[in-house]
Amino acid sequence: MPQDLATAAPPSSPPRLGHRLRQWFDSSAVAPAQGADADRIDWLRVLPFVLLHLGCLGVLWVGVSPVALAVAVALYALRMFAITAFYHRYFSHRAFRTSRAMQLAFALIGASSVQRGPLWWAAHHRHHHRHSDTAQDPHSPLHGFWRSHMGWFLTRGAFATDLSRVPDLARYPELRWLDRFDVAVPLALAAGLFGLGALLQALWPELGTSGMQLLAWGFFVSTVVLFHATVTINSLAHRFGSRRFPTRDDSRNNLWLALLTFGEGWHNNHHFYSSSARQGFRWWEIDLTWYGLRLLAVLGLVRDLKPVPAWVLDKAER
Ligand SMILES: [Zn+2]
Ligand SMILES: [Zn+2]
Repeated sequence: MPQDLATAAPPSSPPRLGHRLRQWFDSSAVAPAQGADADRIDWLRVLPFVLLHLGCLGVLWVGVSPVALAVAVALYALRMFAITAFYHRYFSHRAFRTSRAMQLAFALIGASSVQRGPLWWAAHHRHHHRHSDTAQDPHSPLHGFWRSHMGWFLTRGAFATDLSRVPDLARYPELRWLDRFDVAVPLALAAGLFGLGALLQALWPELGTSGMQLLAWGFFVSTVVLFHATVTINSLAHRFGSRRFPTRDDSRNNLWLALLTFGEGWHNNHHFYSSSARQGFRWWEIDLTWYGLRLLAVLGLVRDLKPVPAWVLDKAER
């Protein structure tokens, strides 16, 4: 880390600004925050997050087309699956096994969601399970709605990845690279969408789309909706819904959040027993991620999906 800091700024630019800009692209250039500093929001580092939201306003200028809407919805679905099945159930909880190639493929798809790399995500999530709804839980609603929804994510303290929480994942150099340069994949997706839209406009103008239109809908709108849907599990699923298991935290089961997040809304189930690949424990608890994982297992792409043990269901209070 000190070596990175020493080489952070090129000699020709002001060191502070150069170093700050580098932090946007290389997360290893950010020194871990300590004490009171950890609780502060880093506004310069937050700027890309604000720009992501402002980018949605682009739809006012570029209009809409069936192609743009289809791309936005498809990217929401694919990336929500990558976050729930892989970032959450695989990387954070090891609820099934897969090949190194599949691990990387879904790490890349997940990383395009602008929710950082899988090491950062899993390290924070494991910490959440260990300290759910205590003072040490960074995104408990005990700290207020906005703090649990997105404020925690924007603090200096939440920026670094604690590799000691994810030694099983940190041994893969490709995942460590993704953790360090986590903005590379979203930038590639944005550029790819712009290129695709421009190509469609040139080849089939009757589709009514363009590079800027696919960028606005497929990247900005889809990513922002995906982000806010994902973090409802921190802000709302610890507050609204029913409790089947008397866990020490405030986790809830909530059908609406389960539909929005492809099964993550069965959050009280999950906090009671977090090792299973399935989070809807009853047949009627819709869990799209579980269905997707079953399909991938049939295709031979994932294996050893951990089931919900009978003793868990015996403890259910409703
Ligand atoms: Zn939780
Ligand atoms: Zn979890």
